Amino acid sequence: MTEERIFLSSPHMSDEGYEKKFVEEAFDTNWIAPLGPNVDNFEKEFSNYIGIDNAAALSSGTAAIHLALKAAGIRQGDIVFCPTLTFAATINPVIYERAIPVFIDSGEKTWNMDAKALEQAFLKYPEVKAVIVVHLYGLSADMDAIMELCRKHKVVVIEDAAESLGTLYKAQYTGTFGDYGIYSFNGNKIITTSGGGMLVSKQQEKIEKVRFWATQSRDAARHYQHSELGYNYRMSNVLAGIGRGQLKVLDERVEKKRKIYKKYQAGLSDISEIGWMPSNEWDYANYWLSCITVNGAVTPTQIMDALEEKNIESRPIWKPMHLQPYYAKYSYIGNGFSEDLFNKGICLPSDTKMNEKQMDQVIEIIRSLYK
Ligand SMILES: *Cc1c(COP(=O)(O)O)cnc(C)c1O
Repeated sequence: MTEERIFLSSPHMSDEGYEKKFVEEAFDTNWIAPLGPNVDNFEKEFSNYIGIDNAAALSSGTAAIHLALKAAGIRQGDIVFCPTLTFAATINPVIYERAIPVFIDSGEKTWNMDAKALEQAFLKYPEVKAVIVVHLYGLSADMDAIMELCRKHKVVVIEDAAESLGTLYKAQYTGTFGDYGIYSFNGNKIITTSGGGMLVSKQQEKIEKVRFWATQSRDAARHYQHSELGYNYRMSNVLAGIGRGQLKVLDERVEKKRKIYKKYQAGLSDISEIGWMPSNEWDYANYWLSCITVNGAVTPTQIMDALEEKNIESRPIWKPMHLQPYYAKYSYIGNGFSEDLFNKGICLPSDTKMNEKQMDQVIEIIRSLYK
């Protein structure tokens, strides 16, 4: 008998059954469609939570990035600055629009887009049209420094907050600093609708346009008339019901993720070969994934193998985009920090359903390698 698998981050429905109640309502009223009261209410409740007026519920975070780029007017041949250390979903929509990504390195202070590297990029590519900023693993990028540079150069800012819902930068939610913010409700995110996303903006007319594009760009005519290219990107009313229920437990989930990270720190901080995620006075992080870096004789692979042997999931830090076969042909500005993180980093299991015993087990397995 092997023990029950411990996951990196898996779906965690509320004990109260909020999600089921909203989904049942959708069934009872036959709103099994990519529109309906759960979609409208999820948008409103989500907007209220993060403190921004306009939100469009979409089929994925990737769809949200795609429509943010369209709303920003990004077209073929436009340059878009992107972090190199991220999940491919941040970058793929840039290619959907036939724009050109330029990859910016991360910095030690935040693990996110380095303001100095960004400044260099502006010197090299003054014609850039937009910047995508990511808040990786729930750590916030240094938004003041980044926004100052972006405003000076008059570029559109898209914040990819897919991993950082609930993270605050200087007491303001990540995803609300730029012109557009996007969130993901994929199955592994801090709250989930099984699959889904949200696009937010202070500009109401842009969000209205996004809803139009996301429902096949149907003009206001009785017959089916289309003056623009459309997409089928709306969130289902059934899934929005799950989202409404999950939103009620988001604060609890953030608290638990923070507790997991603190527990790992308490259990492992005396091992000098292990490094930790940066913490900054401005940051209230959701610690979507607890990550460490390892120096010395024990390798990340040895740690991941030892965990896997006990049926515990872990994985390396994201492989930087400029090192991906598909993306290697695009420019990269930096000095190798994110590559170093990739080589040394591990994401530890950060599942909010974990109990104390399971966290202790992870700590013990890692400690045993240093004996
Ligand atoms: C998950 C994720 C996305 C994509 O979200 P989906 O809902 O899976 O399309 C985008 N960016 C980052 C950084 C992510 O982690």
